[in-house]
Amino acid sequence: MSGMRPTGRLHLGHYHGVLKNWARLQHEYECFFCILDWHALAVPVLPGIDPAEHLMDMAVDWLAAGVSPSSATLFVQSQVPEHAEMHLLLSMICPVSWLERAQGGRERSRERDTYGYLGHPLLQAADILLYRAGMVPVGADRIANVEFARDVARRFNHLYGGEEGFEERAEAAIRRLGRKTAKLYVSLRKAYQQQGDLDALRTAQALVQEQQTITLGDQERLYGYLEGAARLVLPEPQALLGDTPQMVGLDGGRMSRSLANAIYLRDSPASVEEKVRRMPTDPARAHRSDPGEPARCPVWQLHQVHSEPAVLEWCAQGCRSAGIGCLECKAPLIEAIKATLAPLQERALDYEQNPDMVRSILADGAEHARDEARETLQEVRQAMGLKYR
Ligand code: SF4
Repeated sequence: MSGMRPTGRLHLGHYHGVLKNWARLQHEYECFFCILDWHALAVPVLPGIDPAEHLMDMAVDWLAAGVSPSSATLFVQSQVPEHAEMHLLLSMICPVSWLERAQGGRERSRERDTYGYLGHPLLQAADILLYRAGMVPVGADRIANVEFARDVARRFNHLYGGEEGFEERAEAAIRRLGRKTAKLYVSLRKAYQQQGDLDALRTAQALVQEQQTITLGDQERLYGYLEGAARLVLPEPQALLGDTPQMVGLDGGRMSRSLANAIYLRDSPASVEEKVRRMPTDPARAHRSDPGEPARCPVWQLHQVHSEPAVLEWCAQGCRSAGIGCLECKAPLIEAIKATLAPLQERALDYEQNPDMVRSILADGAEHARDEARETLQEVRQAMGLKYR
């Protein structure tokens, strides 16, 4: 399970960092790829971006990049309202402090002072858990999102179900408390479980809450173990770290739409050429005869993603010896980027000319996603005691 907020047309950073990975994974796993339009409302990507306007552009780029409806389920979040119910049900068990911690350090502003903003990590967790996803392909900077979903699943399971090997894990967590605290925990648990001593239960819960050195997972296990747990309803997802190179932008910073430094998948060959030709290079190469250092040059970083080893060697050697000029160095890069984009653009054209086909792919995807989501929700409702329908 993975997704993107609808930000419109995608760039080379999305292609090399995400879409190539999805196109591979779709042949190895059952994949759900979701356009997260509700997230775009919770966390505006850019002021003035209209999710509806950009949704189709994003879908076309996914398809053009080789994410295929015959191998994966592509859908729009708001067309699967089960995401909202899952979010609501999970909000009943998600402590506010978890959300505040998940948002800790992020920029707060008046337009972000909403429940939608505070709760969006939980909506992300609902997106993942709704499909009982085993794997979530993410870059290293997004591991915390998957961890959050794992914490929510674990808490849900402790409150309404259980986890595999729960008893062994709980016993291991007790040992990690240290001898004295572990002994106290065990005696309080015994007093509650054997004599129904509620004071002992509350004291034990306070004891667990005080522990600063154990993980959130262990803390949840220790809470759950006090009262006992039996069934796993929501499996904990794992982060699937892919080979996601960070794409450098035209100005040497991270390639990003908001920084206006991107090469888009549907940029024309002339536009690619113009963008690369205008890229800054190593400032040491003020004149053609000045030697340079590729490590200081953003063009070199793009070369490393797009060029063959022989070209890289030619470029590095020519740069350091002033044997080539920067425009010469950029020429094979321009050709390599054009060659990468040409087949994508050909496929994109087909979809651009058939918007109904794209809409139908997304509608079919939503239907399939709803079938899966309904099954999970039925179990979640039942586990929570909502058994009357
Ligand atoms: Fe950059 Fe190439 Fe110029 Fe060296 S020769 S500074 S790598 S563009």
